Amino acid sequence: MTKTVAIIGAGPAGMAAAYFAADAGAQVFLYEKNPVIGKKLIFVPWDGCELTHSGDTDDFMENYARGAEFIRFSLEKFGSKQAIKFFKGLGVELSTNEDGIISPASGGSPSVQKAFETKLTDMGVTFCISSKVQEILTDGKKVTGVEVHNLAKPFDRVIIATGGAARPKLGASGDGYRFAQTLGHNVIDPLPAMSEVETVEKLGKFLGGMSFPKVTISIYQNHTKILDRTGPIAFTEHGVTGNTILFLSGIISRLNDKNKVEIGIDIAPQITRDLLEKELIAKSANSNHYSVGEIITNYIDKRMLPVLSRFFRIQDSKPMSHITNLERKGLLLFLKDFRITVKKVKPFHVALYTSGGVDTSEVNPKTMESNRIKGLYFCGEVLDVDGGPGGYNLHSAFATGFIAGKSAGRRTSSRKNSAENENILVDTAPESDAIEIENHNTLGKETAANPSNTTD
Ligand SMILES: Cc1cc2nc3c(=O)[nH]c(=O)nc-3n(C[C@H](O)[C@H](O)[C@H](O)COP(=O)(O)OP(=O)(O)OC[C@H]3O[C@@H](n4cnc5c(N)ncnc54)[C@H](O)[C@@H]3O)c2cc1C
Repeated sequence: MTKTVAIIGAGPAGMAAAYFAADAGAQVFLYEKNPVIGKKLIFVPWDGCELTHSGDTDDFMENYARGAEFIRFSLEKFGSKQAIKFFKGLGVELSTNEDGIISPASGGSPSVQKAFETKLTDMGVTFCISSKVQEILTDGKKVTGVEVHNLAKPFDRVIIATGGAARPKLGASGDGYRFAQTLGHNVIDPLPAMSEVETVEKLGKFLGGMSFPKVTISIYQNHTKILDRTGPIAFTEHGVTGNTILFLSGIISRLNDKNKVEIGIDIAPQITRDLLEKELIAKSANSNHYSVGEIITNYIDKRMLPVLSRFFRIQDSKPMSHITNLERKGLLLFLKDFRITVKKVKPFHVALYTSGGVDTSEVNPKTMESNRIKGLYFCGEVLDVDGGPGGYNLHSAFATGFIAGKSAGRRTSSRKNSAENENILVDTAPESDAIEIENHNTLGKETAANPSNTTD
């Protein structure tokens, strides 16, 4: 029998889920509390819309600070190739930059939102805009429907695609967390991610506005190193940002919750500490005519020099041959482990993403179905999956939307047999011939309505 599926939230995850649930033969209702679908997507800057990435599964896995193992299956079924094919099918032309980031070739993020709107309308998806889902209805074991506008609406399956807690003005309200918790799910404390980190040290005066393409950043909690990552950093008026910091910011948020967190910056990652120490000793002995500044700019950008006198009290004009052992140690710290202290990660109203969310250990990674309530599915930012810059967060929204939509949309129970689940997903992945992007179902056409003026 054809299944009825309610999707709560018309962001990238909900729209992808709607596509694939409708494609699987379900009658789909897409509930969105905003008067437009994909509001956050529209606000992704045109010139910076990182839709997905050209990397393979291993590359993707390295770019999730949380939840990578959980979404491995989604990434294998809906990776870069499938995403490219999917967007071409939607009519979105893509371009790939030198870093492998894939963006709309023209029209920016609004062109993606428009393409979804057109395709989903054509597929017979019913848009219920300005319709805030208040509750998810169950019989205690399985989903029975949703409550909207104080009315109970029966559904066979419900997909929670409500997004996270970042940017409340664009629709983030934490409703998905509340729904999940009410139904017995654990929610990992949602904290700001993909956000600038403010530091105790006032670096802005010396380094504000400068960026460096390759440093190694280590995170320390109570002086114990937790992890490191190499990549670009940028200094702001009040702290640090750039792709490496943005990737790490969710982790920093969590560590900084109760403990002191420091960021150690290795500004000369191309040389080991031991070798650098040997070279500095040799240069102190042999470099009568050279200043400290002239020597260390062999290793680092000269724009960093003001930090040396301010934070390490070593004048860069001092002759290298005159430095003391203590000063040489200071130079090593400056070059290899320049520590700054985290004040805070900038909060949700400016963060681009959420670290934390619905505990993925309670969700089946092959179907996105709840392990607690039958017929309940999750996708997108509401899950405890945290990706870095480069298109990884939008990609995980699409990939988990693909799995959730396919699973919720099919006629058989997704709990029946997990091997069968996997086969269904393999057979219908967009890369395979079994799915034709244009060949979607027409169920629900009778109920499809113009998204611009429909409320449920
Ligand atoms: C400015 C900005 C730029 C970004 N740029 C990028 C980028 O270039 N690349 C990238 O990978 N990521 C980017 N991101 C992150 C990306 O936007 C998110 O990863 C993505 O939007 C998550 O999709 P989602 O569908 O899970 O959630 P959302 O997009 O947040 O959608 C959830 C939807 O659910 C609706 N909703 C919530 N509760 C209810 C309810 N009770 N009833 C009905 N509807 C409800 C909300 O109104 C919302 O429309 C950016 C984020 C921001 C803020």
